[in-house]
Amino acid sequence: MSTPSIPEARQAAGSLATKLILFVFVSTFVTALVVSWVSIQSTYDSLRGTIDRLYPAELAHAERQMVSWLEASDGELNALAARPEIVAEDPTAAFERAIAGSERFEALARMTPDGGFDVWVGAPPASDAQPLHRRSSRVTLDDGRERGVLWVPLGEGGAGALLGVLDAAHPGAILTRLHRDPHSLLALIDARGAVLAGAGPGPEPGQPVTLPPEQARGGLASEYESGGRAVIGAFRPVRGSADWGLVVQTPFEIAFAPVLDVVSRIFVIDLAVILFFSFLAYRITGAVVRPIERLSDWARRIADGQLDLEIPETSDRDEIGLLTRTFNDMMRLLRRNQREIEETNRDLTEKNTRLQQANEVLNQLSITDGLTKLHNHRFFQDHLTREIKRVDRAGEALSMLLIDIDDFKQLNDRFGHAAGDELLMRLAPILNAAIRETDLAARYGGEEFVILAPNTDLSGAYRLAEKVRTSIAESSFILDDSLRPMRVTVSVGVAQFQGNRKRFFQKTDEALYRAKAAGKNCVKVDEDDAEDIEGIT
Ligand code: GH3
Ligand code: MG
Ligand code: MG
Repeated sequence: MSTPSIPEARQAAGSLATKLILFVFVSTFVTALVVSWVSIQSTYDSLRGTIDRLYPAELAHAERQMVSWLEASDGELNALAARPEIVAEDPTAAFERAIAGSERFEALARMTPDGGFDVWVGAPPASDAQPLHRRSSRVTLDDGRERGVLWVPLGEGGAGALLGVLDAAHPGAILTRLHRDPHSLLALIDARGAVLAGAGPGPEPGQPVTLPPEQARGGLASEYESGGRAVIGAFRPVRGSADWGLVVQTPFEIAFAPVLDVVSRIFVIDLAVILFFSFLAYRITGAVVRPIERLSDWARRIADGQLDLEIPETSDRDEIGLLTRTFNDMMRLLRRNQREIEETNRDLTEKNTRLQQANEVLNQLSITDGLTKLHNHRFFQDHLTREIKRVDRAGEALSMLLIDIDDFKQLNDRFGHAAGDELLMRLAPILNAAIRETDLAARYGGEEFVILAPNTDLSGAYRLAEKVRTSIAESSFILDDSLRPMRVTVSVGVAQFQGNRKRFFQKTDEALYRAKAAGKNCVKVDEDDAEDIEGIT
């Protein structure tokens, strides 16, 4: 199992922190955006509501004033026209008095029935002015600017008319009095949109002003473009006038300056809020991620096998504290289980060792003769099998000695079976002492022993047999309580392996038989091979 390295773990934790901070940043940003939009929109709506209320009211009020000014002017002109000398005599003096005593007219003129003017008092008309007729609502004076005009018929049967050129200074003063916002334009305009009189910044009298679109007529505020800049304005026609109207108009950025103010303030507040919450997220993420980093570091060390670790626990009752305590509980359980496993392992190893020892003993017992402690018949047969295989491969000599105690039955009979056993036991060390390390001495059965001598030819085997025979014959044995030493002899049959196992046994057996027949206490070799060996048969 592979565990992540610390840098990998840090990276993972880092990306978790990044995700959290990013999430907080984006959500704060979106929230700020929505709040800003709603604030800006509601500020705009509220301003717009105020304008929608104020402009029509201002226009209605101004219109009432204009209407009463027009009515008063009309009244004044009618009163003047009613005086008999205006028609019958030269009205110049009367006109001069009227202009001087009133602020309403710049000029007064009498029109003759043929359409010309016989008297004109006050500001003169422009030399290139259009010819006037009674439906004219304006006239251009010699300063090049147009003025509004009022007409009153003179005499019976429409002999002529009295023309009053209105002095724009008077309505201008009225509008200035009514006008509240120094940034907006409140103007009286004629049918062509030229300013007759106005208050506030904007086109001078005589200059044209862009009017609100058609739907804004009647006093409703509307946003449109005038003089190359965005404005909000409203229009209201003046009742009883010759297509005159009133317009109120404010540049957009001034009318909605509070919105821009809100936008800039909200931007600063939003920025501060976003930065504050991002910083907060950074700190909180750090506080969460650091303990997780520590825990993963501990976990890695535990994965590396350091089970004796105890993670320092905090008193925090939060998830990290709980995780740490759970971690430690888990570690304690792991350690206990490991101790149990180790104990069980030790126990098993001990048992296994004892079992192995018992097996070895058993194995030893199974190949050992219980009485003499020499190898038993079975082991000898297995050993012979292995030796024959080896000899077949290597082409070495292999000889066998079959040793039989002479007159053993008698010994048994005289001294008892136990004494016979005793003798069998005593012979074992004598045999072992006579042989080489590579030789094998085994109890063949009853009172017969066998020696297998590898790498030994018949003459060598014969010498070994003689050595065994003489060693035994020269030994004396005390086998019973009488403490009488006694002598024992053996007869030995010897043969060399010639490639046939069965024949090998037969030849050894026959040699032993011949030794017995020859009077015992002697060594006989296989007859077929004996000729080669000098002095033995
Ligand atoms: P020979 O010289 O011809 O060998 O005569 P022998 O008496 O030794 O005759 P044989 O070899 O046939 O003897 C076999 C006797 O050996 C028979 C049995 O009573 C005795 N014998 C065989 N095994 C044991 C044993 O384990 N202990 C004792 N005490 N006697 C045994
Ligand atoms: Mg025997
Ligand atoms: Mg015998």
